[in-house]
Amino acid sequence: MVLAPGFVDAHIHVWPEAIEVKPARYTVADHFAVSRPAGVLRTVLIQPGMYGFDNRYMLEAVGAHPGIFSAVAVVDADAESLDATVAKLRGQGVRGFRITAAKDKPWAEWAGMHGLWRVAGRAGMAMCPLINPEALPWVAAMCEKHPNVNVTIDHLGRVGAASAKPPDAEVRVLCGLARFPRVHVKVSAFYALGRKQVPYTDLAPMIRQVFETYGPRRLMWGSDAPYQVQPPHNYAASVDLVRERLTFLNAEDRAWLLARTAESVFFTP
Ligand SMILES: [Zn+2]
Repeated sequence: MVLAPGFVDAHIHVWPEAIEVKPARYTVADHFAVSRPAGVLRTVLIQPGMYGFDNRYMLEAVGAHPGIFSAVAVVDADAESLDATVAKLRGQGVRGFRITAAKDKPWAEWAGMHGLWRVAGRAGMAMCPLINPEALPWVAAMCEKHPNVNVTIDHLGRVGAASAKPPDAEVRVLCGLARFPRVHVKVSAFYALGRKQVPYTDLAPMIRQVFETYGPRRLMWGSDAPYQVQPPHNYAASVDLVRERLTFLNAEDRAWLLARTAESVFFTP
């Protein structure tokens, strides 16, 4: 069975002028040039952290291409009138919030962070942690308090980012979060995990374990362009791992990973 094109990339960034990262710029046109030939027709834009809480460039891209993009924004969890901010962003196409873990500010002890999860839950938005494996237990602590909130963990929890082989203990911690039914995992950023080499098939055992624990409906593929498109990496190699090389996936599984799961979380009315 051949998968119809129309894939959804659950994770990319666009920026007009980079601050201390490469490439210097990555525009929507740059993204279309690599994603359309790979059969990817819709994309979730993730606001990069380098502009503070200024989501404007990303939101302009969303507004200029109706139906093509969803968006994950960065907001100040401690700001007043968070409800109004979130409502406005929702109207502009945002469906999630990127959060990171600063060691000196554990989420569970941070009133503003609890506030953001509450507002996100009410607004039907996802919390999207970009975290290292050490912070995976932070997700559990928040899910226990906010069980109605969708969560989407970036890049397989970055398990394998710091080593050539993803540590079994960390894979188990990631899989342990599957006990919370609203936790989803992005199968993404292959350039940064394990051996970090095309065709990324060394990641198959980890992805299989995550797949068998979460099931296809809670996993979504993402490229993490523009990082994924810096040589020797490329966009097609990222899609191809899920579309062709993970032999434990059947056609329906692939349809969930490559489109439906991201659609259900990020392309909601
Ligand atoms: Zn990213």
